[in-house]
Amino acid sequence: MTGITEQREVVAAAARGAQAPLLALTGISKRFQTARQDTLALDDVSLEVRRGEVVCIVGPSGCGKSTLLNIAAGIDTHFDGDATFEGDPITGMARERAVVFQEPALFPWLNVRANVEFGLKLRGVPKAERKAIVDRQLAMVNLSRFDRAYIHELSGGMKQRVQLARALAVEPHMLMMDEPFAALDAQTRDDLQGELQSVAGRIGATVLFVTHNVREAVILGDRVVVMSRGPGRIRRVIDIPLSRPRTPDDHDVADFAAMVRAELQESSTEAEPRYAI
Ligand code: ADP
Repeated sequence: MTGITEQREVVAAAARGAQAPLLALTGISKRFQTARQDTLALDDVSLEVRRGEVVCIVGPSGCGKSTLLNIAAGIDTHFDGDATFEGDPITGMARERAVVFQEPALFPWLNVRANVEFGLKLRGVPKAERKAIVDRQLAMVNLSRFDRAYIHELSGGMKQRVQLARALAVEPHMLMMDEPFAALDAQTRDDLQGELQSVAGRIGATVLFVTHNVREAVILGDRVVVMSRGPGRIRRVIDIPLSRPRTPDDHDVADFAAMVRAELQESSTEAEPRYAI
């Protein structure tokens, strides 16, 4: 191969890399079979997430949101279809994809600082560097003053901030969040939505965010993926081209939320509305 041909190939590969989605889920189907039930949780779902994008998934309970996130995260590797991350097949959990759940999975015997530091220690990051990273992450989530506190001393919102700081400390290429604010009171939830917007904006984070709260999806998402139940399919993907920061009482947020809610109501035949405003 000549030098010029090599250079051309490198340039072409870089161009492909820049355009390629970070996460690509193609034709994903997932069936749960138990002795008593056979559930088709996802039926031919395709979704791409580009670098720097925040994509929110909404849909009725049981429509397969968590199942889809678990496949993207590499928690669930038994499915039909193709799931790739940065072009490589997803075969299990990986440091590049940090997962944040509704229930904070923090170590009660460690203080806030040690919780955030944990993953860095496992990776053998030198002490001074660890300290700098932890300081930066705690400042980002407004927890610097509480770095010596133990988990039981924290409120629910503070615990979720620690989880976020710990996830970000290892510099993942993508954050996967499954209803992280669902158990919090309304005010704390609003606060954390604001903080996540600001953190994600500052670092250009790529986020896949599952929620059943329509307004939350519109506040956070560049795109909102509306799923329908039985079996789980993508009904529509709605772009949210609003400037940030977005707040719950923005009129534009309310308008887009109404659009998403209408889509959800249409996809549902159930009498009782389940979508938080
Ligand atoms: P959502 O997150 O939208 O509430 P899930 O992804 O948790 O929905 O579930 C989708 C469907 O798959 C539901 O019908 C649920 O009962 C079923 N399901 C999820 N996990 C399992 C499992 N481990 N075993 C059997 N069925 C499951």
